[in-house]
Amino acid sequence: MAGGDNKSKNMLTVPDLIRKKRDGGQLSDDEIKAFIQAVKEKTIQDSQIGAMLMAIWLNGMVSAEIKALTREMMSSGEVMEWPDEWKNFMVDKHSTGGVGDKVSLVLAPALAACGCKVPMISGRGLAHTGGTLDKLESIPGFKVEQSREQILEILDSVGCCIVGQTETLVPADRVLYALRDITGTVDSLPLITSSIISKKGAESLSALVLDVKFGRAAMCKDLESATELAQMLVEAGNGLGIRTAAVLSGMNGSIGRCVGNSVEVIESLETLKGNGPDDLMELVTTQGGLLLVMTGLVSDLSEGRKQISEAVVGGAALSKFQAMMEAQGVNSDTAQRLCTTNTDYYSILRKAKHQLELKAPADGIVLEIDGLVLAQVLHRLGAGRSKAGEPVNHSVGAVLLVSIGQRVTKGVSWLRLHYEDPALTPDQRNHLESALTVGTDKKIQTQQKRTLVEKILPKKYAY
Ligand code: URA
Repeated sequence: MAGGDNKSKNMLTVPDLIRKKRDGGQLSDDEIKAFIQAVKEKTIQDSQIGAMLMAIWLNGMVSAEIKALTREMMSSGEVMEWPDEWKNFMVDKHSTGGVGDKVSLVLAPALAACGCKVPMISGRGLAHTGGTLDKLESIPGFKVEQSREQILEILDSVGCCIVGQTETLVPADRVLYALRDITGTVDSLPLITSSIISKKGAESLSALVLDVKFGRAAMCKDLESATELAQMLVEAGNGLGIRTAAVLSGMNGSIGRCVGNSVEVIESLETLKGNGPDDLMELVTTQGGLLLVMTGLVSDLSEGRKQISEAVVGGAALSKFQAMMEAQGVNSDTAQRLCTTNTDYYSILRKAKHQLELKAPADGIVLEIDGLVLAQVLHRLGAGRSKAGEPVNHSVGAVLLVSIGQRVTKGVSWLRLHYEDPALTPDQRNHLESALTVGTDKKIQTQQKRTLVEKILPKKYAY
């Protein structure tokens, strides 16, 4: 494709393609292929890529365009290959990002315990949402960077790994994502869909589950917009030949009781020891159950949920997690101690210098704990990063000491904050205190929805 205004035979130039999309036209498969090829080969200027991204942001894309864009992005780099006998059992999940979202740490080993192969490629936290890789890196020795050969070896011996994206996987996404970030085009459904699904496609999966979150602390603020994104993601996944389902789940508070890197690892380990909170178990068993249905390992979702739950509660998933830690660099004594009942986690994980307990301001019922507020304050205290590449403080976090619907009395501790120097400012403390709503309305208490999963797509997998 010509980068300037000179037309080559039968092929539009880059400015022609931009104009076509700008004016609401539909790009053909060949045109999308040429665009991504030019992105990959760097024969197109950043300004032209930015203009195309904005044209897509403004006019959207039809399904055929999204399918072609996703496929071409996936093919811009290495596409993983697996032994034939694994091909029906390669599974992974993706979450659109939540507060206290530690599902991957429990789900990957549970799936491995049920016979799946899980080459989980995860991300780091950005803005207020945490990243699975940052959580795992709070475990001394855990290496998230693994080569293709090492991933194969770990999948062979353990069945699951949780690793970072390699340089060779979907290089076009790296270019497009960086430019989306600086051109105000991150929040475009076709661009989000192609970015997420192309990376999952490069893992050569047989089944994929997407946890699309909606609510105050999520990217999608309501169920309607989350459903639109979920449908697009499911269609794009299926377009690559991956059996794909989406779980739509509420994200107003936090998942479980811990938010922050080390504290979430502790809560994940406790869950793998059979002491997990109900909301986390609901997400793990639903997403895992769906993957077992899609791989054909079980015939319906309730059987899938049961098998995943048994793997978690019965300790098989914990053994897989221990083996995965060792395979990814954790000293075997450390891995074993972390997986022992009643262990002293802080003899291994770093504990923050300071702890502070916040007190309930009045008698009443806990009506709400705002997950976005918790995450924003923790982010400012160092638990998260504002720019890619910044370090995070693994020991900063919060542990909720009460749950929604619980009756509390004035002065009882509702949150334990783990923080480092410098101390939190009065403004930060006020903000954090505003996360808790205590009321007296008994009707509101009974109206509180206690389950997170609202909808499963496609419906055929929901039974
Ligand atoms: N995650 C991705 O990988 N890409 C997006 O565009 C959004 C979330």
